[in-house]
Amino acid sequence: MRLRAEILRGLGRYDEAIIDAGRYLDALGDDPDPGEQSRALFLHGTIAAEQNEFADALAYFHEARAALNEDLHANELARIYNAIAVTQVFGLNHERARPYYERALDLVRRGDNLALQSTILGNLASVVAALDDPDEAINLFERAMAIGREAGGPALWATHLANICDIQVQNTRHEQALETCPKALELLQPSAQPRVLSGLTMTIGDLHRNMGQPERALSLYQDALMLASGQVAHVEDQLLQRLADIHQELGQAEQAGSYLRRLLALRAELQERERRTTVEELEVHYQLEQREREIELLRLQGQLQASRLQQRNTWLAAMAIGLFLVTVLALVILRSHYSHANLEDALSERNQALESAIERVGELAALDSLTGLLNRRAFLAEAEKTIARAVKDGRPISLALGDLDDFKQINDRFGHPIGDQVLKAFAQRLRQALRSDDLVCRWGGEEFICLLPNVDQDQTVNLLERIQDALSAESITTAAGELKIQLTFGVAAIGIDLDQSILAADRAMYRGKQAGRNRIVAASPADYRRQSSSE
Ligand code: GH3
Ligand code: MG
Ligand code: MG
Repeated sequence: MRLRAEILRGLGRYDEAIIDAGRYLDALGDDPDPGEQSRALFLHGTIAAEQNEFADALAYFHEARAALNEDLHANELARIYNAIAVTQVFGLNHERARPYYERALDLVRRGDNLALQSTILGNLASVVAALDDPDEAINLFERAMAIGREAGGPALWATHLANICDIQVQNTRHEQALETCPKALELLQPSAQPRVLSGLTMTIGDLHRNMGQPERALSLYQDALMLASGQVAHVEDQLLQRLADIHQELGQAEQAGSYLRRLLALRAELQERERRTTVEELEVHYQLEQREREIELLRLQGQLQASRLQQRNTWLAAMAIGLFLVTVLALVILRSHYSHANLEDALSERNQALESAIERVGELAALDSLTGLLNRRAFLAEAEKTIARAVKDGRPISLALGDLDDFKQINDRFGHPIGDQVLKAFAQRLRQALRSDDLVCRWGGEEFICLLPNVDQDQTVNLLERIQDALSAESITTAAGELKIQLTFGVAAIGIDLDQSILAADRAMYRGKQAGRNRIVAASPADYRRQSSSE
């Protein structure tokens, strides 16, 4: 994970790198090895610094530093102090950078990493040069070179020489610079990057220009321009400016003009690039703002809707109050027109009509539309009350479930409407045959349930046997002629649970059907079990 983050960082894919670096840090867990933890934090800091987020970078570096012990991790600490100082230099804070480099130097001297020692010393020298102490800076660069030489090839120390050249040129130490600068260039040429080479070549051009050799300077600037073109914008800019100036000084207006045009084009391009970056940044910013505005809009819409609802409710309330007042007013007027008694009569009549209408609606909802018997829902509600009363009074109560025999045949032979007529007539017959306290319900299809208070199971069997003739013997008059109907009853006592009794009656009824129909069968103790043995 750390390697991947380092590679992504190297490729400039900072967003991905920072994710991997974060995962690396997370993966270390609660009690990480200090070295690993510090490395993870250091990586975070480096990525932040390369993205110009210096404050974040410094925070990470200091955290990375705090994780380590001076005696155990001198080199690592030196590297971190060096990074802190470099970050300060990025922020143009040379004064602050200096003590960190010195601390880094102190630490790295304890170890044997000469290359690192040389680099840090060179960095310190650069800061000292920036703080306007050329002699001390050169002195430090020379020490850095000496150590770099000990450590290995010219790549490790030639840049120090190039820096010395730079200081010498800036401080018009021409004689010394004439010795130092070409040597540095020679050493750097095979390996160095365009940035270093073009900068050094330009510095040597400056040297010759200062020495009054414009032709030599011109040629060096042109060499440097080749190296810098399209690679190091700020060096390219400075070179074009110098080339234009020298040509002008030499009275070569055309060439001067040509370099000035190139300079203008380069600046325009840089500006355009900067503008594009700014535009991109602005776009991201704008999109974020846009989203925020959308969220705000949604929130406001929600509020608006809530307030509209509230307003509507207030309106409704106001209208209700208004209506009430109008009604009261109307009543007052009515009262003044009619005598007190008349009004009372009219009102009580209306109330009665209203009450009976309400009752009727309730009844309709409770009655089966074909037979006018209680429907299943109403029966269950009524049954509950009736059973509660019986239990309270300690009286028996029983249940009979009846199912018309071979009713399908009636439908099949005479059609469904005739079946309906039979059902309706039979229902009336059943209702009439029973007492008014008995609840009679069309349980569904051609099944009926009767709840009989004050009689136990045996008494109910007797009672049904007595009325069976009235129910079955006489034929029913229908459009298809006189039809006879028989039925089978299952009878159960009501125990603790109505459902259980219905189940028991159903089982008894089923046995009646099996035994040849047209009979009344009392439930046996087994029928009351939740799970019958045959099921
Ligand atoms: P069993 O003696 O075993 O009860 O035989 P069955 O034919 O009565 O029993 P089954 O359950 O097979 O048939 C009941 C029939 O009742 C079937 C259905 O068409 C009829 N039925 C149910 N509800 C109504 C209704 O509202 N009107 C009419 N016309 N017929 C109905
Ligand atoms: Mg049936
Ligand atoms: Mg039937």
